[in-house]
Amino acid sequence: MNTPLLLRPHHGLCLLHFVGKGYSDAFTANLAEKAAHLRENPDTKVKICTGADSICAHCPHRRGTACESSKPPRYDRAVLQHSGLKEGQQLTWSELQQKMRLVAHAHLQEICGDCEWYALCAELETKMN
Ligand code: SF4
Repeated sequence: MNTPLLLRPHHGLCLLHFVGKGYSDAFTANLAEKAAHLRENPDTKVKICTGADSICAHCPHRRGTACESSKPPRYDRAVLQHSGLKEGQQLTWSELQQKMRLVAHAHLQEICGDCEWYALCAELETKMN
């Protein structure tokens, strides 16, 4: 992939903790494909964006370039605040993953404790530490 993979900030956390669950078959297949690509190609360039990204693209909750839920923008702001990342910033997945590990270790519950997938991510987080 030469074009950077667009990722909204909190999807760095979702990719870090992905265990094969998602909102729909199409959503989960897309997320699994992106997660596998990044795992195999950690030097892949990613670009931090706001609004719909490469993960939202196949989500049943996407409404154009926005999300029907009010939670994701809040999660994004919190990840930006704790990671120091900026909108438009480009970095490799390896670099982003490192930042997400630190953010998740210290702030996961505070950032996305009310997400429906939080328990799965928190369980994995315990195993990773
Ligand atoms: S729930 Fe919203 S933020 Fe999350 S993947 Fe779907 S459209 Fe994107």
